[in-house]
Parts: sequence; structure tokens; C-alpha cells
Amino acid sequence: MLSAAPFFAETYSAARERFRALAQCLQWQTEAVPIAARGPAGEELSIDVAGNFDSNASACLVVSSGLHGVEAFFGSALQCAVMQQWIDHPDAAPGLRCVFLHALNPYGFAWLRRADAANIDLNRNFLLEHEAYRGSPPGYAELDRFLNPQWPPHHWDAFMLQAATRIARVGLPALKNAIAGGQFEFSRGLFYGGAAASQTKVILEQHFNRWLGASRSVMHIDLHSGLGKWGSHKLLCDYPLTELQRQRLADWFGADAFESNVARDGQGVAYATRGGFGQWCIASQRERDYLFAYAEFGAYNILRTIAGLRAENQAHFWGKPNHPGTLRAKARLKELLCPASPDWRRSVLEQGIALVTKAAAAVARAAA
Ligand SMILES: [Zn+2]
Repeated sequence: MLSAAPFFAETYSAARERFRALAQCLQWQTEAVPIAARGPAGEELSIDVAGNFDSNASACLVVSSGLHGVEAFFGSALQCAVMQQWIDHPDAAPGLRCVFLHALNPYGFAWLRRADAANIDLNRNFLLEHEAYRGSPPGYAELDRFLNPQWPPHHWDAFMLQAATRIARVGLPALKNAIAGGQFEFSRGLFYGGAAASQTKVILEQHFNRWLGASRSVMHIDLHSGLGKWGSHKLLCDYPLTELQRQRLADWFGADAFESNVARDGQGVAYATRGGFGQWCIASQRERDYLFAYAEFGAYNILRTIAGLRAENQAHFWGKPNHPGTLRAKARLKELLCPASPDWRRSVLEQGIALVTKAAAAVARAAA
């Protein structure tokens, strides 16, 4: 049975070191691109990239973690577990180009936040050329006061009660739409898309093409945690799928394994996201045969998770930096997005390794 414990790091720095050490064992090249912010202990922060950049393979597997900062406690663990698998079983290592992007939001990872140093939710920041960093979905302004209280945290908080009332009035889909669609007006609020391209977006604009090299067929899995059923996972696409893309996802992962949130509305996970990382990858890599999916690994109930995001955001902006209440809110958010339960951890790693292995084999076959 897989032992998950060694792969889950306690801090951003420990995760980064492990990731780089495993890459070296695989004889991959590594690069660290620093960002202009520091961690809570004054440590340097970087986006780290590892891969066999000398490969001329036309098939390429991209696995990225930590677009949502603190979710990298899970994403980094899975990347490390996959790398360990390929170290232990060299025959299973795929004959393709691999690009592993570690901690796309290192600030959020280090500070136990979902957003980056400018409070940007990076999965709302990757706007396309014709899109403006402006606006918010109908109903968001009303939600802002409720989601983003502008005072220090108190012991007693009526959030769950208010949430229940609000949901009874507007319905969960409407609330989800307003929240998940992102907003570009409340710079200290949740799901803020930013006023301009984030540091992460600028870094990817500079380097991503070089990391992909000459590859023609790319399968990109972007790792997330927190939404969905406890210990299970789902693939999500936020761009209009072509028939070929839809067919491939179904053939490679199973017809029930993925959802596209573009063409549907009202029910389930249907919402229109602006500034999604996947949309940007697809739009900026048109000369390659590019397939992108978010792999979302479920944990706690969505209302609890939103309550945890809200409490951490409130503590981060309005609480005192090292106050026990602030640290507690951050630790709780980490638990919500990367539960300490050994069963959860083992289950998500086993599923994740199987998913990445399947993706690697499939894209290698497709490019052959
Ligand atoms: Zn996420």
C-alpha cells in the first residue's frame, strides 16, 4: 500500500526542496523563477520548474500545482509522488517531454492563502487579449459585504447562518455563479481577478513556450483541491471543447471523468469563468495540439470551504499578523484544502498517480 506521509510537506520551503531533489534523481533539469515577495519567515519565493528539457519528443505532459497557493500542499505532494514512482520504476517513466510546474502561486503556498501577494485569484487573472480587467457578475456587490467583512475576526460569526438564509433566497447556483465567475472590483475580496496581469501570468508569458520546446501534442493537468466529493476527483475544462478534444478526454479518462463548464448553465458546476488558466493555455498555444484539464480533488462541503476562505481572508487583511486567531484561520484553510486524514491523503495520491500515468501514456500514444 502506498505510504502518503513522505510526500506531504509541512511548509512551502520543505515542499520546494523535496520537489527539486526528486527532479535531480530523475536527471531532469530544474529552474527557479523568483517572484517579488517573501514568505512569512523572510524566505525567498519562486516558481520552480522541472523537466527533461533536452527531450525532442513531440508528446509533452505538463503537470502544474499551486495556482491557488495553499492548494499546493496537495498538488506538490502529488507531483513528488509521481516523480518518486518514476524513480522507483524507471521502466514506467514515459518516453515523452515532461514539464512539472511547482507552486504557480508560491506566495499563497507560503502564507496559507489561495490568492497571491496582490490578493489575486490566479485562476481569474489569465484574461485573453481582448478582455479587460473590469467588472463583476450581477449580484456580486451585494455579496461582497457578506463575503468580505472589513473588520477583525470575532469569536462569534454568523456566516453559516447568513449563508443558509442567502441560499434559501437566491439559490445555490446563483451564489456559485457570482462567486466562481470572479470579480475585478473588490481588491481585498475573494475571487478577485486583479487590475492587470499577475506576476505568475507575466512569468508564464515569458517562459512557457521555451519549457514546452518543440512538443506538438500536449496534455496539461492543473492540480486543485477542495471542491467536490471527499477523496474523489473530477476533471474540469473551462474552454469550449472541440469534438477531437471531447473525444480524447472520453477515450483517455472515461466519459464520466470530465465536465466542461462552458456550454451549460443553471445547474451543477455550470458557470462562466473569466480569466481561467486553461482558457489562456489553449488560446496561447494554438500552434500545438493542446489539451488542458483542471483535476479537482474533493474534500469538505462547499459551504464550509467558502466559510474557511472568507475567515482566512478576513484574518489576513484585518487581523494581526501573528495573532493566534489569524494563524488558526490559516491552519483551518490548509486543512479544508489538504485534509490531514491519512485515508484522504493516500486515496488522492493513488488516484492522482493513476491519472497522471494514464495521461502520459495517452498523449505519448496520440503523438506517435
Ligand atoms: Zn483551486
